[in-house]
Amino acid sequence: MSVISTLKNQPAILAAFKTIESHRDENNRDMIELTEIPAPPFGEDTRGKRVAEMFREAGLANVKIDEVGNVIGMRPGRSGAKTIALGAHIDTVFPIETDVTVRREGDTYIAPGIGDNTRGIVVLLSLIKALEAHNIQTEHDLMFVGNIGEEGLGDLRGIKHLYRDGAPKIDSFIAVDGGRDDRLVYSGVGSFRYRVTFKGPGGHSWGDFGDANPHHALGRATTLFADRAAKVSSEGPRTSFSLGRIGGGTSINSIPFESWMEVDMRSVSVEKLDEMDAVFQQAMIDGLAAENAARTRGDEITVDIKKVGDRPVANGDASSPLVQQALAAIGSFGLDPQLRSSSTDANTPIAKGLPAITISRGGKSAGAHSFEETWTDTDSHIAIQIALLITLAQAEYAGP
Ligand SMILES: [Zn+2]
Repeated sequence: MSVISTLKNQPAILAAFKTIESHRDENNRDMIELTEIPAPPFGEDTRGKRVAEMFREAGLANVKIDEVGNVIGMRPGRSGAKTIALGAHIDTVFPIETDVTVRREGDTYIAPGIGDNTRGIVVLLSLIKALEAHNIQTEHDLMFVGNIGEEGLGDLRGIKHLYRDGAPKIDSFIAVDGGRDDRLVYSGVGSFRYRVTFKGPGGHSWGDFGDANPHHALGRATTLFADRAAKVSSEGPRTSFSLGRIGGGTSINSIPFESWMEVDMRSVSVEKLDEMDAVFQQAMIDGLAAENAARTRGDEITVDIKKVGDRPVANGDASSPLVQQALAAIGSFGLDPQLRSSSTDANTPIAKGLPAITISRGGKSAGAHSFEETWTDTDSHIAIQIALLITLAQAEYAGP
């Protein structure tokens, strides 16, 4: 019998499944409370403190907040020979001033960050409580992490810190951050992110007319990039690009001093990502040169291209025990498991050749990264039960 089928026959685990189903209202209360604590990248402290309290209340030992703000709690195993980590990121993409009040319509909850990834934290809490309620023991240590810095300019800094040189060894990492129970992320999409700033003397729109204009340079550069990048992404391994934010300027009647933008590019292939990167760099330089050539007076403007994000392309191993056990766990609920590549916290360990996956937070997620993000409570216990099975397979169930 396979590991997963054996686990599914254990009375203590079946009882834990029932307990997870009974957590439904409590889980939704926790989700609302945490969602309403803003947690922008680099501003996760307040939510982190509450997550630490919740980890303690759920029964974890040695809960602490590390140097960068990750919340870490342990559940010791019998031998502790290995460490199996479960993580959910606590940051959102939304700025601190965003209204994060949760609205409810039936079983649907609406608020920025509700699904991605506040619900992920709730999955960890419910799983811990179910282990505690049935005194389920494991051979290996379990580590639970509410990690910071997954989104946006956070650039996986929380997870990178956990895997820094000299850090305590983590043998397997299970990230809870997916929107669908049938999807298993085993491989990582790589990404580069840039902040580009065109700078010039600036001045009066009438009086200084003829000076090079940073906004015009940005426009020229972006047009060149979008046209050339579309050629790169139109063939071969999946590759994307997007100008996500843009800003600068003093007033409608001023030539701006600066014009800035933030650009994101992703690929499942190292070569394609490098090709996109080269096209991007050249377009910025060509756009700048075109604007400088078009000016009739004044100094040249300059461009500063700063890399603000670097997530490795990570080729996962579908035949690893972690991936195989996760596929079996998902399949054991009658789902047809789909292997996927994505950009998640699992990128960091996978890129180092270490076992890591990203699994579902359960329910139904929609509109992630939008102000109208929703999370609907449909069969939401299944993802937690799947997470429990994978955890016990990896940490070696040692009885109640
Ligand atoms: Zn997420």
